[in-house]
Amino acid sequence: MVEDNPINVAGLNHFFGVGEARKQALGDIDLSIERGSLTILMGPSGSGKTTLLTLMGCLREVQDGSIKLLGQELHGAHEAQMVMLRRRLGFIFQAHNLHESLTAAQNVLMGLQVHGPGNAAKQLSATIHMLDILGLADRVDYLPGNLSGGQKQRVAVARALVSNPEVIFADEPTAALDREAGLNVVKMLKAMGRTRRTTTVMVTHDNRILELADRIISMEEGRIVGDTRSSPTGKPTP
Ligand code: ADP
Ligand code: MG
Repeated sequence: MVEDNPINVAGLNHFFGVGEARKQALGDIDLSIERGSLTILMGPSGSGKTTLLTLMGCLREVQDGSIKLLGQELHGAHEAQMVMLRRRLGFIFQAHNLHESLTAAQNVLMGLQVHGPGNAAKQLSATIHMLDILGLADRVDYLPGNLSGGQKQRVAVARALVSNPEVIFADEPTAALDREAGLNVVKMLKAMGRTRRTTTVMVTHDNRILELADRIISMEEGRIVGDTRSSPTGKPTP
C-alpha cells in the first residue's frame, strides 16, 4: 500500500445473497492506484468489475477487507462520511443518464448544484467552459433529444468533470459510442489526469481504447488475474 495513492484496496472480499444463494463476487483484491493515472478494469461479464468499481466509489458498503479512498477508510464508514467523499468523486455510466427536459448546460450545472448553492454566475461560466473543452460550445442550449449519442455522452462527462473531482469512476462509458467518439471521451479523461492530476478508473470491454491506459487490470471470477502497466513508450509491458 502506498499511503499517498488515492485508492488503496487490501484483502477485499464481497458477497451477494444469503444462505444457499450466497455467492462470492470478489475475492482477495489488493490494489493501489496512483494519482493522475488512467486505469482500465477489464474482464468477462460477471467477473466483478462493477462490484469493485462501486465499492471503491462509495456506492456500496464494504463487507470485508479495506478500501482507503482519499485517505479515508470505507469499511465501517458512516453514511455522512460517504456522502462527503462522494462529493470529491465523478461518475460516468454506460447510459448517460441525462435529464431529457434539461438542456446540455442545465444538465452540467446539476453536477455543480449537488454540491450546494454556489455563485450562480461562476457555476454557469464553469459549465460553459467545460462544455467548450468537450467540443460542445455550440450545443449548450440543446436538449438531449437533439444531440447525437456521442454528444450526449460528452455532456455526461462534462457533468462528471465540472466539479473538478479528484477521482473519476467510469463504467463502460464508451459502450454506446462509435470509435471516434469513444476515443475522444477517453482522451479527455486522460488529459485531465495530466493537467489536473485527476485519477480515473474505467471499466471497459473496448479494445480500441486499451492503448490509452496507463495500467490495465484484468479480472476473472472476482479476482485480479493480470496487472499491466504501459511503458513510457506507450507500449504495454508485462
Ligand atoms: P461485471 O461488472 O464484471 O460484469 P459484476 O460486478 O456486475 O460483474 O458482478 C459480479 C458477480 O456478482 C456476478 O456473478 C453477478 O451476477 C453478481 N452480482 C452483481 N450484482 C449483484 C446483485 N445486486 N445481487 C446479486 N448478485 C449480484
Ligand atoms: Mg459491469
